[in-house]
Amino acid sequence: MDCLFCKIAAGQIPSNKVYEDDTVYAFRDIAPQAPVHVLVIPKEHISSLHAVTEEKAALLSHLFAVSREIAEKEGVAESGYRVISNVGEDAGQSVKHLHLHILGGKTLKWDN
Ligand code: AMP
Ligand code: ZN
Repeated sequence: MDCLFCKIAAGQIPSNKVYEDDTVYAFRDIAPQAPVHVLVIPKEHISSLHAVTEEKAALLSHLFAVSREIAEKEGVAESGYRVISNVGEDAGQSVKHLHLHILGGKTLKWDN
C-alpha cells in the first residue's frame, strides 16, 4: 500500500512521534497550524472517517481516548483545543489515511 501515513506508522518514513501503541500512532504535523498540532492515526489503513463503520467502534473510541491524553500531555486540556478530521475533497483531505488533527495553544479561528 503506497500510503504516506501507513509508512509513517510503520517507521519507514521519519516523523516526530508523540505517542504509539499497538493500534494507534501520533506525530507532529510537518506544517503546524497552531503551537500544538498533532496528528493521531490508526496503524491500520482506513481511508477516512467516512470509511469507519460500527465494527470499528472500539478503534475509533481508542483514537479519541488517545487524543484526550495527548491534549493533557501537550498542556492544552485546560485552555482548549480542537479535534478535526477532514473528509474528501471539499474538506481539503490531502492524505487518504484517517487522521485526527489535535490543534491548540492559541485562540483558533473558524474560517471556512
Ligand atoms: P489533511 O489535509 O487533513 O489530509 O491533513 C494532512 C496533514 O498531514 C497536513 O496538515 C500536512 O501538513 C500533514 N503532513 C503531510 N505530510 C506529513 C509528514 N511527512 N509528516 C507530518 N505531517 C505531514
Ligand atoms: Zn494508510
